Amino acid sequence: MSAYNTVIGLEVHSELNTKTKCFCACKNEFGDKPNTNCCPVCTAMPGALPVLNRDAVERAILMGLAVGCKINNYSVFERKNYFYPDLSKAYQISQLEYPLCVGGGLEIEVDGKKKFIRLDRIHLEEDAGKLIHDNAGTLVDYNRGGVPLIEIVSKPDMNSAEEAVAYLQKLRSTLLYVGVSDCKMQEGSIRFDVNISVNKEGEPLGTRTELKNLNSFKAVLRAIKYESNRQIEELEAGRPIIQETRRWDDEKGKTYSMRSKEDSQDYRYFPDPDLIPLEVSEEYIERIRAKLPKLSHQRVQEYLSMGLSEQDATLITQERSYADFFEAVLKLFNEPKFVCNWITAEVFKKLNAIEDEERTISVKPENLAVMLKMYKQGEINQAGARKIFDIIWEKDVDPVKLVDELGLKQMNDAGALKEVLVKIVNDNPKAVKELKDGNEKTMAFFVGQAMRATQGKANPKMVADIVKELIK
Ligand SMILES: [Zn+2]
Repeated sequence: MSAYNTVIGLEVHSELNTKTKCFCACKNEFGDKPNTNCCPVCTAMPGALPVLNRDAVERAILMGLAVGCKINNYSVFERKNYFYPDLSKAYQISQLEYPLCVGGGLEIEVDGKKKFIRLDRIHLEEDAGKLIHDNAGTLVDYNRGGVPLIEIVSKPDMNSAEEAVAYLQKLRSTLLYVGVSDCKMQEGSIRFDVNISVNKEGEPLGTRTELKNLNSFKAVLRAIKYESNRQIEELEAGRPIIQETRRWDDEKGKTYSMRSKEDSQDYRYFPDPDLIPLEVSEEYIERIRAKLPKLSHQRVQEYLSMGLSEQDATLITQERSYADFFEAVLKLFNEPKFVCNWITAEVFKKLNAIEDEERTISVKPENLAVMLKMYKQGEINQAGARKIFDIIWEKDVDPVKLVDELGLKQMNDAGALKEVLVKIVNDNPKAVKELKDGNEKTMAFFVGQAMRATQGKANPKMVADIVKELIK
Protein backbone atom coordinates (compact mmCIF):
# COMPACT_ATOMS: atom_id res chain seq x y z
CA MET A 1 0.00 0.00 0.00
CA SER A 2 2.77 2.44 0.86
CA ALA A 3 4.08 2.23 -2.71
CA TYR A 4 1.49 4.85 -3.69
CA ASN A 5 2.00 8.62 -3.96
CA THR A 6 -0.85 10.95 -3.15
CA VAL A 7 -1.03 14.03 -5.36
CA ILE A 8 -3.08 16.99 -4.18
CA GLY A 9 -4.02 20.30 -5.77
CA LEU A 10 -6.23 22.88 -4.07
CA GLU A 11 -8.72 25.45 -5.25
CA VAL A 12 -9.55 28.08 -2.69
CA HIS A 13 -12.46 30.48 -3.06
CA SER A 14 -12.11 33.58 -0.97
CA GLU A 15 -14.69 36.37 -0.84
CA LEU A 16 -13.18 39.83 -1.10
CA ASN A 17 -14.17 42.27 1.62
CA THR A 18 -15.21 45.12 -0.68
CA LYS A 19 -18.04 47.45 0.32
CA THR A 20 -20.10 46.55 -2.74
CA LYS A 21 -20.53 43.60 -5.08
CA CYS A 22 -18.34 42.80 -8.08
CA PHE A 23 -20.52 44.19 -10.89
CA CYS A 24 -23.19 46.34 -9.19
CA ALA A 25 -23.57 48.75 -6.28
CA CYS A 26 -25.37 46.33 -3.92
CA LYS A 27 -23.92 46.00 -0.43
CA ASN A 28 -21.47 43.16 0.15
CA GLU A 29 -22.56 42.25 3.66
CA PHE A 30 -22.89 38.90 5.39
CA GLY A 31 -25.89 38.21 7.60
CA ASP A 32 -28.32 40.84 6.27
CA LYS A 33 -32.01 40.00 5.83
CA PRO A 34 -32.32 37.59 2.87
CA ASN A 35 -32.77 39.13 -0.59
CA THR A 36 -32.33 42.72 0.55
CA ASN A 37 -28.94 43.30 -1.13
CA CYS A 38 -30.00 42.53 -4.69
CA CYS A 39 -30.69 44.58 -7.79
CA PRO A 40 -31.54 44.00 -11.47
CA VAL A 41 -27.82 43.56 -12.28
CA CYS A 42 -26.94 40.85 -9.79
CA THR A 43 -30.18 39.01 -10.49
CA ALA A 44 -29.79 39.45 -14.28
CA MET A 45 -33.00 41.25 -15.17
CA PRO A 46 -33.32 41.97 -18.90
CA GLY A 47 -31.44 45.06 -19.96
CA ALA A 48 -29.34 45.37 -16.78
CA LEU A 49 -25.61 45.86 -17.40
CA PRO A 50 -22.68 44.98 -15.13
CA VAL A 51 -20.02 47.55 -14.17
CA LEU A 52 -16.74 46.19 -12.78
CA ASN A 53 -15.85 47.16 -9.20
CA ARG A 54 -12.38 48.75 -9.22
CA ASP A 55 -11.83 47.86 -5.55
CA ALA A 56 -12.37 44.16 -6.28
CA VAL A 57 -9.73 44.30 -9.03
CA GLU A 58 -7.28 46.06 -6.72
CA ARG A 59 -7.78 43.56 -3.93
CA ALA A 60 -7.26 40.64 -6.31
CA ILE A 61 -4.06 42.26 -7.60
CA LEU A 62 -2.85 42.94 -4.04
CA MET A 63 -3.21 39.27 -3.18
CA GLY A 64 -1.49 38.29 -6.43
CA LEU A 65 1.45 40.56 -5.62
CA ALA A 66 1.69 39.21 -2.06
CA VAL A 67 2.21 35.65 -3.31
CA GLY A 68 4.53 36.57 -6.17
CA CYS A 69 2.14 36.21 -9.10
CA LYS A 70 2.64 37.87 -12.44
CA ILE A 71 -0.23 40.32 -12.92
CA ASN A 72 -1.52 40.10 -16.46
CA ASN A 73 -2.00 43.46 -18.17
CA TYR A 74 -4.86 41.95 -20.15
CA SER A 75 -7.53 39.69 -18.71
CA VAL A 76 -11.00 38.70 -19.83
CA PHE A 77 -14.27 38.03 -18.03
CA GLU A 78 -16.15 35.05 -19.36
CA ARG A 79 -19.53 33.53 -18.72
CA LYS A 80 -19.50 30.10 -17.14
CA ASN A 81 -22.89 28.71 -18.08
CA TYR A 82 -24.81 26.35 -15.87
CA PHE A 83 -28.17 26.14 -14.18
CA TYR A 84 -28.61 25.93 -10.45
CA PRO A 85 -31.31 27.58 -8.32
CA ASP A 86 -28.80 29.74 -6.44
CA LEU A 87 -27.64 31.26 -9.75
CA SER A 88 -30.45 33.39 -11.11
CA LYS A 89 -28.45 34.42 -14.18
CA ALA A 90 -27.76 30.81 -15.19
CA TYR A 91 -24.14 31.87 -15.67
CA GLN A 92 -21.35 33.01 -13.41
CA ILE A 93 -18.98 35.77 -14.51
CA SER A 94 -15.50 34.30 -14.15
CA GLN A 95 -12.14 34.20 -15.91
CA LEU A 96 -10.79 31.22 -17.84
CA GLU A 97 -8.42 31.79 -20.77
CA TYR A 98 -6.99 35.10 -19.56
CA PRO A 99 -6.92 35.26 -15.76
CA LEU A 100 -5.78 38.32 -13.81
CA CYS A 101 -2.84 36.69 -11.98
CA VAL A 102 -0.63 33.72 -12.87
CA GLY A 103 2.28 31.91 -11.21
CA GLY A 104 3.66 32.66 -7.76
CA GLY A 105 3.49 30.39 -4.75
CA LEU A 106 3.87 29.92 -1.03
CA GLU A 107 6.41 28.24 1.20
CA ILE A 108 5.09 25.81 3.77
CA GLU A 109 6.74 23.86 6.55
CA VAL A 110 5.71 20.40 7.76
CA ASP A 111 7.70 18.56 10.44
CA GLY A 112 10.58 20.99 9.99
CA LYS A 113 10.73 20.42 6.23
CA LYS A 114 10.21 23.43 3.99
CA LYS A 115 8.50 23.12 0.63
CA PHE A 116 7.44 25.60 -2.03
CA ILE A 117 3.90 25.15 -3.35
CA ARG A 118 3.43 26.73 -6.77
CA LEU A 119 0.29 28.56 -7.76
CA ASP A 120 -1.27 28.12 -11.16
CA ARG A 121 -3.40 31.29 -11.11
CA ILE A 122 -5.62 33.66 -9.18
CA HIS A 123 -8.68 34.85 -11.04
CA LEU A 124 -11.54 37.14 -10.22
CA GLU A 125 -15.14 35.96 -10.34
CA GLU A 126 -18.50 36.44 -8.64
CA ASP A 127 -20.15 34.30 -5.97
CA ALA A 128 -23.53 32.60 -6.35
CA GLY A 129 -26.47 32.95 -3.97
CA LYS A 130 -27.16 30.57 -1.14
CA LEU A 131 -29.71 27.80 -0.74
CA ILE A 132 -31.19 27.36 2.70
CA HIS A 133 -32.74 23.98 3.37
CA ASP A 134 -35.31 23.87 6.15
CA ASN A 135 -38.47 21.99 7.05
CA ALA A 136 -40.61 24.08 4.70
CA GLY A 137 -38.39 23.12 1.76
CA THR A 138 -35.56 24.99 0.13
CA LEU A 139 -35.29 28.77 0.19
CA VAL A 140 -32.89 30.92 -1.76
CA ASP A 141 -31.03 34.05 -0.64
CA TYR A 142 -29.46 36.07 -3.47
CA ASN A 143 -27.60 38.50 -1.17
CA ARG A 144 -24.36 36.62 -1.83
CA GLY A 145 -24.93 36.48 -5.60
CA GLY A 146 -22.43 38.79 -7.27
CA VAL A 147 -20.11 39.15 -4.27
CA PRO A 148 -16.51 39.31 -5.56
CA LEU A 149 -14.43 36.18 -5.14
CA ILE A 150 -10.90 35.24 -5.97
CA GLU A 151 -10.21 31.66 -6.88
CA ILE A 152 -6.67 30.69 -5.97
CA VAL A 153 -5.59 27.56 -7.81
CA SER A 154 -2.46 25.69 -6.76
CA LYS A 155 -0.35 23.31 -8.82
CA PRO A 156 -0.67 19.66 -7.69
CA ASP A 157 2.40 20.09 -5.49
CA MET A 158 1.19 18.60 -2.22
CA ASN A 159 1.64 14.95 -1.29
CA SER A 160 -0.05 14.58 2.08
CA ALA A 161 -3.05 15.82 4.02
CA GLU A 162 -0.65 17.60 6.39
CA GLU A 163 0.97 19.50 3.52
CA ALA A 164 -2.44 20.49 2.17
CA VAL A 165 -3.51 21.85 5.55
CA ALA A 166 -0.19 23.69 6.03
CA TYR A 167 -0.71 25.31 2.61
CA LEU A 168 -4.28 26.33 3.45
CA GLN A 169 -3.23 27.79 6.78
CA LYS A 170 -0.45 29.77 5.13
CA LEU A 171 -2.78 30.97 2.39
CA ARG A 172 -5.45 32.04 4.86
CA SER A 173 -2.84 33.80 6.98
CA THR A 174 -1.56 35.63 3.87
CA LEU A 175 -5.08 36.71 2.86
CA LEU A 176 -5.54 38.12 6.35
CA TYR A 177 -2.17 39.90 6.26
CA VAL A 178 -3.01 41.46 2.92
CA GLY A 179 -6.42 42.32 4.38
CA VAL A 180 -8.48 41.49 1.30
CA SER A 181 -10.78 38.89 2.88
CA ASP A 182 -12.07 38.21 6.37
CA CYS A 183 -11.60 34.45 5.76
CA LYS A 184 -14.41 33.33 8.06
CA MET A 185 -14.75 29.61 7.47
CA GLN A 186 -18.04 29.42 9.39
CA GLU A 187 -19.61 32.11 7.21
CA GLY A 188 -18.22 30.56 4.04
CA SER A 189 -16.10 33.54 3.06
CA ILE A 190 -13.27 31.08 2.45
CA ARG A 191 -13.96 27.62 0.99
CA PHE A 192 -11.73 24.79 -0.09
CA ASP A 193 -11.98 22.29 -2.96
CA VAL A 194 -9.48 19.43 -3.07
CA ASN A 195 -8.29 17.61 -6.20
CA ILE A 196 -6.72 14.31 -5.33
CA SER A 197 -5.27 11.31 -7.11
CA VAL A 198 -2.92 8.46 -6.28
CA ASN A 199 -0.29 6.77 -8.41
CA LYS A 200 2.58 4.36 -8.04
CA GLU A 201 6.13 5.69 -7.99
CA GLY A 202 7.35 6.29 -11.55
CA GLU A 203 3.92 5.84 -13.14
CA PRO A 204 1.82 8.62 -14.74
CA LEU A 205 -0.62 10.61 -12.60
CA GLY A 206 -3.78 8.78 -11.64
CA THR A 207 -7.37 9.81 -12.32
CA ARG A 208 -8.39 12.50 -9.88
CA THR A 209 -11.53 13.13 -7.88
CA GLU A 210 -12.63 16.49 -6.53
CA LEU A 211 -13.87 17.02 -2.99
CA LYS A 212 -16.12 20.06 -2.81
CA ASN A 213 -16.65 22.87 -0.35
CA LEU A 214 -14.76 21.69 2.68
CA ASN A 215 -14.98 24.43 5.26
CA SER A 216 -12.54 23.57 8.00
CA PHE A 217 -8.91 22.47 8.18
CA LYS A 218 -9.95 19.42 10.15
CA ALA A 219 -12.40 18.41 7.42
CA VAL A 220 -9.67 18.82 4.77
CA LEU A 221 -7.28 16.66 6.76
CA ARG A 222 -9.77 13.86 7.33
CA ALA A 223 -11.28 13.99 3.84
CA ILE A 224 -7.89 13.72 2.11
CA LYS A 225 -6.80 10.80 4.28
CA TYR A 226 -10.07 9.00 3.65
CA GLU A 227 -10.14 9.67 -0.08
CA SER A 228 -6.53 8.70 -0.70
CA ASN A 229 -7.07 5.38 1.11
CA ARG A 230 -10.29 4.80 -0.79
CA GLN A 231 -8.57 5.30 -4.14
CA ILE A 232 -5.72 2.97 -3.19
CA GLU A 233 -8.20 0.29 -2.11
CA GLU A 234 -10.10 0.63 -5.40
CA LEU A 235 -6.92 0.24 -7.43
CA GLU A 236 -5.69 -2.67 -5.33
CA ALA A 237 -9.04 -4.38 -5.94
CA GLY A 238 -8.56 -3.88 -9.68
CA ARG A 239 -11.28 -1.24 -10.05
CA PRO A 240 -10.64 2.02 -11.97
CA ILE A 241 -10.94 5.44 -10.33
CA ILE A 242 -13.83 7.39 -11.80
CA GLN A 243 -13.26 11.08 -12.49
CA GLU A 244 -15.97 12.64 -10.38
CA THR A 245 -16.96 15.19 -7.79
CA ARG A 246 -17.39 13.76 -4.33
CA ARG A 247 -19.07 15.10 -1.23
CA TRP A 248 -17.43 14.81 2.18
CA ASP A 249 -19.76 13.72 4.98
CA ASP A 250 -18.12 15.04 8.11
CA GLU A 251 -20.31 13.03 10.48
CA LYS A 252 -19.80 9.71 8.76
CA GLY A 253 -16.19 10.49 7.88
CA LYS A 254 -16.66 9.32 4.27
CA THR A 255 -16.80 10.74 0.76
CA TYR A 256 -19.74 10.05 -1.58
CA SER A 257 -20.07 10.38 -5.32
CA MET A 258 -22.04 13.51 -6.26
CA ARG A 259 -21.72 13.69 -10.03
CA SER A 260 -19.29 12.82 -12.76
CA LYS A 261 -16.69 15.55 -13.03
CA GLU A 262 -17.41 18.08 -15.74
CA ASP A 263 -14.68 19.60 -17.89
CA SER A 264 -14.40 23.30 -18.65
CA GLN A 265 -15.89 22.81 -22.13
CA ASP A 266 -19.10 21.56 -20.50
CA TYR A 267 -19.67 25.10 -19.22
CA ARG A 268 -19.56 26.69 -22.68
CA TYR A 269 -17.39 29.54 -21.49
CA PHE A 270 -17.40 32.59 -23.73
CA PRO A 271 -16.27 36.21 -23.20
CA ASP A 272 -19.01 38.23 -21.51
CA PRO A 273 -20.30 40.57 -24.22
CA ASP A 274 -21.35 43.09 -21.55
CA LEU A 275 -17.84 43.50 -20.15
CA ILE A 276 -14.80 44.78 -22.03
CA PRO A 277 -11.45 43.08 -21.37
CA LEU A 278 -9.74 44.30 -18.22
CA GLU A 279 -6.54 46.18 -18.99
CA VAL A 280 -4.20 47.21 -16.20
CA SER A 281 -1.01 49.16 -16.85
CA GLU A 282 2.32 48.45 -15.14
CA GLU A 283 2.08 51.87 -13.55
CA TYR A 284 -1.32 51.02 -12.06
CA ILE A 285 0.04 47.70 -10.73
CA GLU A 286 2.95 49.54 -9.11
CA ARG A 287 0.55 51.98 -7.46
CA ILE A 288 -1.26 48.99 -5.96
CA ARG A 289 2.02 47.37 -4.92
CA ALA A 290 2.79 50.48 -2.87
CA LYS A 291 -0.34 49.73 -0.81
CA LEU A 292 0.80 46.23 0.18
CA PRO A 293 0.80 45.94 3.97
CA LYS A 294 3.71 44.35 5.82
CA LEU A 295 3.57 40.59 5.46
CA SER A 296 4.57 37.98 8.02
CA HIS A 297 8.16 37.50 6.82
CA GLN A 298 8.77 41.24 7.02
CA ARG A 299 7.37 41.37 10.53
CA VAL A 300 9.56 38.41 11.54
CA GLN A 301 12.63 40.43 10.49
CA GLU A 302 11.44 43.44 12.51
CA TYR A 303 10.82 41.34 15.60
CA LEU A 304 14.24 39.69 15.33
CA SER A 305 15.80 43.15 15.40
CA MET A 306 13.84 43.83 18.62
CA GLY A 307 15.63 40.87 20.19
CA LEU A 308 12.97 38.19 19.84
CA SER A 309 14.08 34.66 19.01
CA GLU A 310 13.27 33.28 15.58
CA GLN A 311 10.88 30.78 17.15
CA ASP A 312 8.99 33.49 19.04
CA ALA A 313 8.91 35.82 16.04
CA THR A 314 7.48 33.01 13.91
CA LEU A 315 4.89 32.07 16.51
CA ILE A 316 3.67 35.60 16.98
CA THR A 317 3.38 36.30 13.24
CA GLN A 318 1.45 33.14 12.36
CA GLU A 319 -1.71 35.26 12.31
CA ARG A 320 -1.90 38.93 11.48
CA SER A 321 -4.26 39.51 14.41
CA TYR A 322 -1.59 38.18 16.82
CA ALA A 323 1.13 40.38 15.34
CA ASP A 324 -1.18 43.41 15.36
CA PHE A 325 -2.03 42.69 18.99
CA PHE A 326 1.65 42.38 19.92
CA GLU A 327 2.41 45.72 18.27
CA ALA A 328 -0.59 47.40 19.91
CA VAL A 329 0.66 46.32 23.35
CA LEU A 330 4.20 47.49 22.53
CA LYS A 331 2.91 50.96 21.65
CA LEU A 332 1.85 51.34 25.28
CA PHE A 333 4.54 49.26 26.96
CA ASN A 334 7.69 48.93 24.91
CA GLU A 335 9.25 45.76 26.34
CA PRO A 336 9.25 43.41 23.33
CA LYS A 337 10.68 40.30 24.98
CA PHE A 338 8.65 40.64 28.15
CA VAL A 339 5.41 41.20 26.20
CA CYS A 340 6.23 38.40 23.76
CA ASN A 341 6.85 35.94 26.59
CA TRP A 342 3.45 36.66 28.05
CA ILE A 343 1.73 36.33 24.69
CA THR A 344 3.42 33.07 23.65
CA ALA A 345 2.81 31.52 27.07
CA GLU A 346 -0.38 32.90 28.58
CA VAL A 347 -2.27 34.30 25.59
CA PHE A 348 -1.58 31.25 23.44
CA LYS A 349 -2.68 28.96 26.28
CA LYS A 350 -6.06 30.71 26.23
CA LEU A 351 -6.23 30.57 22.42
CA ASN A 352 -5.38 26.86 22.35
CA ALA A 353 -8.27 26.16 24.70
CA ILE A 354 -10.69 27.52 22.07
CA GLU A 355 -12.23 24.66 20.08
CA ASP A 356 -13.01 26.71 16.98
CA GLU A 357 -10.30 26.89 14.30
CA GLU A 358 -10.76 30.65 14.10
CA ARG A 359 -9.30 31.95 17.34
CA THR A 360 -9.32 35.56 18.39
CA ILE A 361 -7.55 37.30 21.23
CA SER A 362 -10.24 38.69 23.48
CA VAL A 363 -8.19 40.81 25.89
CA LYS A 364 -7.77 44.50 25.04
CA PRO A 365 -4.15 45.47 24.29
CA GLU A 366 -4.39 48.47 26.64
CA ASN A 367 -5.51 46.31 29.55
CA LEU A 368 -2.72 43.80 28.98
CA ALA A 369 -0.16 46.63 28.69
CA VAL A 370 -1.23 48.14 32.03
CA MET A 371 -1.18 44.75 33.75
CA LEU A 372 2.23 43.79 32.36
CA LYS A 373 3.68 47.13 33.38
CA MET A 374 2.59 46.53 36.99
CA TYR A 375 4.02 43.02 36.83
CA LYS A 376 7.34 44.17 35.38
CA GLN A 377 7.65 46.93 37.99
CA GLY A 378 7.02 44.48 40.80
CA GLU A 379 3.69 45.93 41.91
CA ILE A 380 2.13 42.50 41.46
CA ASN A 381 3.74 39.09 41.32
CA GLN A 382 3.24 36.34 38.75
CA ALA A 383 0.33 34.75 40.58
CA GLY A 384 -1.38 38.14 40.77
CA ALA A 385 -0.65 38.82 37.11
CA ARG A 386 -2.24 35.51 36.11
CA LYS A 387 -5.29 36.19 38.28
CA ILE A 388 -5.81 39.59 36.64
CA PHE A 389 -5.18 38.16 33.19
CA ASP A 390 -7.95 35.59 33.67
CA ILE A 391 -10.37 38.44 34.41
CA ILE A 392 -9.32 40.90 31.70
CA TRP A 393 -9.47 38.06 29.14
CA GLU A 394 -13.18 37.67 29.95
CA LYS A 395 -14.15 41.33 30.29
CA ASP A 396 -12.92 44.86 29.83
CA VAL A 397 -11.93 45.99 33.35
CA ASP A 398 -9.19 48.32 34.50
CA PRO A 399 -6.34 46.19 35.89
CA VAL A 400 -5.30 48.96 38.32
CA LYS A 401 -8.75 48.80 39.94
CA LEU A 402 -8.58 45.01 40.01
CA VAL A 403 -5.30 45.06 41.90
CA ASP A 404 -6.92 47.22 44.56
CA GLU A 405 -10.19 45.32 44.72
CA LEU A 406 -8.53 41.92 44.95
CA GLY A 407 -5.77 43.15 47.26
CA LEU A 408 -3.08 41.87 44.92
CA LYS A 409 -0.62 44.64 45.52
CA GLN A 410 2.71 42.96 46.08
CA MET A 411 4.42 43.37 49.42
CA ASN A 412 7.51 45.38 48.60
CA ASP A 413 8.04 46.66 52.11
CA ALA A 414 11.49 45.30 53.03
CA GLY A 415 10.97 45.92 56.72
CA ALA A 416 7.69 44.04 56.89
CA LEU A 417 9.03 41.19 54.77
CA LYS A 418 12.08 40.87 56.97
CA GLU A 419 9.86 40.54 60.03
CA VAL A 420 8.01 37.66 58.38
CA LEU A 421 11.21 36.00 57.21
CA VAL A 422 13.09 36.17 60.50
CA LYS A 423 10.40 33.94 61.98
CA ILE A 424 10.48 31.53 59.02
CA VAL A 425 14.28 31.27 59.16
CA ASN A 426 14.24 30.64 62.93
CA ASP A 427 11.56 27.97 62.59
CA ASN A 428 13.39 26.03 59.86
CA PRO A 429 17.00 25.36 60.83
CA LYS A 430 17.18 22.30 58.56
CA ALA A 431 16.28 24.27 55.46
CA VAL A 432 18.70 27.01 56.45
CA LYS A 433 21.50 24.47 56.67
CA GLU A 434 20.64 23.05 53.25
CA LEU A 435 20.66 26.49 51.69
CA LYS A 436 23.96 27.28 53.34
CA ASP A 437 25.34 24.01 51.95
CA GLY A 438 24.60 25.37 48.52
CA ASN A 439 21.28 23.67 47.72
CA GLU A 440 19.76 26.55 45.76
CA LYS A 441 16.47 24.71 45.35
CA THR A 442 15.74 25.23 49.05
CA MET A 443 15.11 28.90 48.23
CA ALA A 444 11.81 27.86 46.67
CA PHE A 445 10.79 26.54 50.08
CA PHE A 446 11.41 29.93 51.70
CA VAL A 447 9.60 31.79 48.92
CA GLY A 448 6.66 29.41 49.32
CA GLN A 449 6.58 29.94 53.09
CA ALA A 450 6.74 33.70 52.63
CA MET A 451 3.88 33.57 50.12
CA ARG A 452 1.81 31.58 52.55
CA ALA A 453 2.47 34.06 55.34
CA THR A 454 1.54 37.02 53.13
CA GLN A 455 -1.44 35.54 51.23
CA GLY A 456 0.64 35.36 48.07
CA LYS A 457 1.65 39.00 48.05
CA ALA A 458 5.35 38.80 48.85
CA ASN A 459 7.77 39.98 46.21
CA PRO A 460 9.65 36.74 45.51
CA LYS A 461 12.84 38.47 44.44
CA MET A 462 12.95 40.53 47.61
CA VAL A 463 12.23 37.40 49.66
CA ALA A 464 15.26 35.68 48.14
CA ASP A 465 17.49 38.70 48.77
CA ILE A 466 16.40 39.00 52.40
CA VAL A 467 16.77 35.29 53.12
CA LYS A 468 20.31 35.35 51.71
CA GLU A 469 21.05 38.34 53.92
CA LEU A 470 19.61 36.65 57.02
CA ILE A 471 21.55 33.39 56.76
CA LYS A 472 24.90 35.00 56.04
ZN1 LIG B 1 -26.87 44.09 -7.29
